[in-house]
Formats: sequence, structure tokens, C-alpha cells
Amino acid sequence: MKDKVSYWTIRRKAQSTVQSWSSSITDEYVHDDVDEPLIRTESPVLPHGVLCVNAATHADEMNECGSVARPHVQFSRSLMKRDTTEYISVLDYYEEGGQNIHWFSDSEDMIECNATENLRDQIAIWSISEKVTDTAVDKLLKLLKPHHPDLPVTSRTLKNTGYQVADIVNIAGGEYVHFGILNGMRRFENEILASFVDVIDYHINVDGLPLFRSSGTQLWPILGKINGLRCPFMIGVFCGQHKPSNVNDFLNRFIEEAMVLKTSGFTLQGIPFRAQPVCFICDAPARALLKKTKSHTGYYGCDRCVEKGEYVEGRVTFPQLTADKRTDILFANAVYEDHQLCRSPLIDLGFGMVSGFVLDYMHLVCLGVVRRLLHFWLRGALTVRLSARSVSLISHKLISMRGSVPSEFARKPRALTELEYWKASELRQFLLYSGMVVLKDQKMDKKLYDHFVCLSVIMHILLSPHAHTPESLFVQLL
Ligand SMILES: [Zn+2]
Repeated sequence: MKDKVSYWTIRRKAQSTVQSWSSSITDEYVHDDVDEPLIRTESPVLPHGVLCVNAATHADEMNECGSVARPHVQFSRSLMKRDTTEYISVLDYYEEGGQNIHWFSDSEDMIECNATENLRDQIAIWSISEKVTDTAVDKLLKLLKPHHPDLPVTSRTLKNTGYQVADIVNIAGGEYVHFGILNGMRRFENEILASFVDVIDYHINVDGLPLFRSSGTQLWPILGKINGLRCPFMIGVFCGQHKPSNVNDFLNRFIEEAMVLKTSGFTLQGIPFRAQPVCFICDAPARALLKKTKSHTGYYGCDRCVEKGEYVEGRVTFPQLTADKRTDILFANAVYEDHQLCRSPLIDLGFGMVSGFVLDYMHLVCLGVVRRLLHFWLRGALTVRLSARSVSLISHKLISMRGSVPSEFARKPRALTELEYWKASELRQFLLYSGMVVLKDQKMDKKLYDHFVCLSVIMHILLSPHAHTPESLFVQLL
């Protein structure tokens, strides 16, 4: 029969092993300038239950440091300081319990904890070394969570990257945070370096969006996008109970940085670049806000021509087709007194305030003309309104298409009763694809149907990459 080893013998051996292991780590890492994985694959031979204490201490230390990329020396010194205490506390527990079953029960819990911590660290190191995206890590953690409840849910918590406190300033009747144009562009450093251009053109989008239905709180983000890339980045965001009351204050930090990037430029990996905004993409209210012009519903609200609108049946219309066009130079000189409320701070950026504010077909056609047409058909004058039966049949046809819509479409068709919630992509789908099919054979005025088909064909031609061919002349004829 094997002699029973005394508690003090176990304790002495364990302490000795821990200290020798800690010293070896210290010596090794103090003279080691090469970055190595923080978790050692080799483990000291310790009495049962002690190994998990060391490993747990190791993992705790990683968390306390706030990052897995902390200096090795700091880790090993802390390990030396804490190991003995942790080790003794476990042995004390053993002494108090006096039964091996307690020892093993505790050990199993700690080993399980140790396994989770190890797994956590290993995933963190793997995701950093393999450059795995946060989204992919989040999905992996979601899969592992049921089997390892102690694992965090997000990549941020896993890597302990934490959050930076934003620099919030009170301006224009709300709060504003500036993230920066250059900070956003640095995310696309590889793409910029691979593009071999000296001047980076970027687009700007400013829009207001309500946050809640029960309050007037709204966000006004300033988004940027490098020309030729798909992914936008956040430049700044305003939050308030209404739109920015002072456009100069709202755009001040954006304009200051844009001017510096345009004139002085910046460097990426030692290579000089300059960056300039080439266009603003906004809806009509945002355009009027940024350009400091009258609203699009005003008599002099047209962005492109000097025509005075006519008030017809409750709305302002612009029936002329030959009015003089507005020019960038005259706008910059604030010549259009009946159109410009005051001088826009964006004029200082030096790009075309008329040609630089593009008129995009998403706002003008999809969210503009098509939605207006559908509203007239559903709730307009009796001469153009569809019967309730026709609306029901059209909705039924749209819903029946849901199973046949290819995956290339972002959304499935919805009933006309949900028109208020239709997105621009759904209105585009109706205009270009499903509309002509579902409206055919309905008891609607032939003029209305032909009018819609005419618009659909025109947009098909204009959206074609071959619109410069003689077909574009056909558009003018239509
Ligand atoms: Zn006009």
C-alpha cells in the first residue's frame, strides 16, 4: 500500500515547483524581445489541482491587463507575486474539507474554468493572428456559447478592446461627435495604396433620421465614401430634438478637416495623398439645409434652374423646360437672392455648389415619382384612383411573387397596403420589374398604364450602361 503523502509535503513541493516555473518564465521573457503567444503550451508538473490555479491566474492577469498584447515581463512578475497566494488558498480549502472528494470536485470546477479561460484566450489570439473579422468571431462565439457559458458574447469583450469615450460637444441645439475624415479613410489604407492615385475623391451624404416614434430625437450623420469603394464611413454625427439649428456650427469641424486634407494632404505609410469631396448626395430637405437655400417646395426651390414655380392644385410645379440654369460661380457669389437664404459654409470648400449636389434617381425617381404615383393610385383624385378590388388583386399578385424573386433582390414584394413602409429598393423593383406585370389586365385607365410603362422603359434605358447609344435619343422622344 502506498504511503499517504502529508499535506505539508504536497505544499512544499508545489511551492517549489511554482517558484521554479515562475523564475524560468521571468528569465526567459526578460531576455526575450520576440513576440510569442502568451499562453505557454508547456505546463509544469504540479500536484493535482495546482496546475489549474496557475492557469487561472494567468488568464485573470490577461483580463486585468485589458489587452492580450501586454508586455511579457509584466505578466511574469505578476504571476510570481500571485501564484503562492492562490496556491495556498486552494490547499487551505483542501485542508478544511479534509476529503478528497472535495478536492476533486473543486479541481474539476477549476479545470473547467481553466478550460474556458484557455479557450477564451486561444480564440482571442487566433482571431488576432489570423486577422479574423469581429463579425466572424461574434458568430463563432454565438455557436460556442451554449457549450461554454463563460465565454463572452462579442469579439470586443473577448479581446477586451473596450470603448473609447467620445468627444461630445454641444452645438447647434444638440450634441455632435466628430470621428474624422482621415480616421475613416485609414480603414481603407490598403485599397488607397493599391489605387495608385495622388488625390482621393470622396462622396458625402448627410441625412436626418428619427430615432424613436415616441419622441422627436433625431440623428444627422455625416457619412463619407471613397470614390470607387462600396463601404461608407462615419465622419461625424449630430443628435438633437430637431435638425441642426446652425449649419455653420454643424459643418465646422468637417469643413476644417476637409480643407486641410485638400490643401496640405496627409501621408499613408510615408506616401503623400490629398483628398477632396467631389459630391454631396442628399435628399431635398438636407440639400436645402446644407446649401442654405429655400425649400424644394418654395417658388424658387429648384436647384438647377431659375424658374419661378407655379402653384397648381395645392403644390408648386415647375412646368417650364427652357429656364436658365443655375451656375456654380453665380451660386458661390450668392447672386441668387430669391433662392439662397444666406451664404453656405460649404462654398469655402471650393467645389460646385450646383453641380456638386447630385440629383440621384433613388431620391428623385424611386422615392419621388414612383411613390407619388402609387399614392395617387391609392388615395388620389377619383379620376386616377384604383378601385379597392384592383388594389387587392395587385397586392395579391405582388405577394404571390415572393417565392419566385431571385436572391439578387434585397427585398421581397409587399402588398400595396404597406406602401408607407416600402423602401427605395422595393419601389425600384416595382418600377423596373414587377409593376408592368401586376398592373397588366387590371381595370385601370389605359392612359395611366401607358404613362407608367413609359416611365419604366425610360428608366430601363437610362440605367443601362449603354445609355449613350442612340437609344438615349429614344428617351427624349418618349
Ligand atoms: Zn428647374
